[in-house]
Amino acid sequence: MMASAQDPGIRRAILQAVADGEAQSEALLARLVRHRSLLGEEAACLEDMVSVFTEQGLAPFRVATDPVKLAEHPGFSPPLIGYAGRDNVAAIHHPVSASGRSLILQGHIDVVPEGAADLWTTPPFEPSIRNGRMYGRGAGDMKAGLVAAIMAWRAIRACGLQPAAELQFAAVIEEECTGNGALAVMQALPKPDACLIPEPGPVLFVAEVGVVWAWVIVTGKPTHVRDTHAGVNAIAAASIIAGRFMEYEGRMNRAELRHPAYAAHNHPINVNCGTMEGGEWNSSVPTRAKLGMRVGVMPGRSCREVAREIEELVADALQDPRLRGAKARVEFKGFMADGAVFPPEQPISQAVLSAHRQITGEDLVPHATTALTDARFYPLYQNTQATCYGPEADSIHGIDESVSLASMHETTKVLARLVSDWCGLEKRES
Ligand code: ZN
Repeated sequence: MMASAQDPGIRRAILQAVADGEAQSEALLARLVRHRSLLGEEAACLEDMVSVFTEQGLAPFRVATDPVKLAEHPGFSPPLIGYAGRDNVAAIHHPVSASGRSLILQGHIDVVPEGAADLWTTPPFEPSIRNGRMYGRGAGDMKAGLVAAIMAWRAIRACGLQPAAELQFAAVIEEECTGNGALAVMQALPKPDACLIPEPGPVLFVAEVGVVWAWVIVTGKPTHVRDTHAGVNAIAAASIIAGRFMEYEGRMNRAELRHPAYAAHNHPINVNCGTMEGGEWNSSVPTRAKLGMRVGVMPGRSCREVAREIEELVADALQDPRLRGAKARVEFKGFMADGAVFPPEQPISQAVLSAHRQITGEDLVPHATTALTDARFYPLYQNTQATCYGPEADSIHGIDESVSLASMHETTKVLARLVSDWCGLEKRES
């Protein structure tokens, strides 16, 4: 039986149900932040997501990330580690009427390392609320978004209603290093009419860059430090190569290489030397050094083309007389990702804009991000419209990451309105 998503009484009831669930939302966020779901350590958080979905009346199932099956897919990134014991979690609501448009609400449960834990005001995996914000690694990026999606669903059902279209949920791994979890889920689930990922905002994502992870392994020539000039210092050589990457970054940000979505951007392409390791002994000239580089890719350019440019720049750096006798090779592991655009005029983006306006009375700001998300897979490889919109977060990937709890609750209302408008509503079955 249909229920009108436009009915003011129903709308008020759903907003009230979100308000009634605020304490539950905050408790759920704290519960998820407590999981130290770093790369390779996601199992407990994934298992808990199975419980979370089950508690909310869904029937979750696991979706394996199978590198053999995905190897030939153009969106697949070379893995950093194996996938055993780390299956993604998904759930699908099946409506009675299927009269509306289907949607996937997806989020990643993996988080990036906390950095120097001693710099945090409170421990990164012990959620702490101060001034209306919850602090903790992953609170903003993006466990609060996952909570908002689940609690929006809860609020609709608390009113005796359910979406009148297929609504899919997914909690995935490796958004922060490959995207292979999201790719596996996209391949496994029925194609939805749209995808919304509640990554931190609140802005409307209209474009994202691609990213290539490159590892440069430098081999020098070891000697005793009494005769350093007879050797080649691998760490010094790696520093010179890192400098070449920075020159490359400067070139890649030139105006003529810009995608129109980034025309007004200060610095869309970021190149980061994220890790550097090397050396064996303080009194030996180091033999080996390794750089871990993250290189942005402008939408419209291919990540494979950028990978070739990286190989060329390293080969070129070896011509530097200071690197004579040094060797370097490049390995690609982790992101091999193209950029993507999420046109603001597409129906899902318009629906997000409208839902946000209805709840807050304000217009969302369009945003071309200099980072990447799992949303790219849907337009690039499935011809499915996608975008990101989520709660206000601060210092993601930094120290003292936090999310505004008021913003998380507001996002929950916006997502409840979005699901109501996009999928339509019907009477709840059970
Ligand atoms: Zn994220």
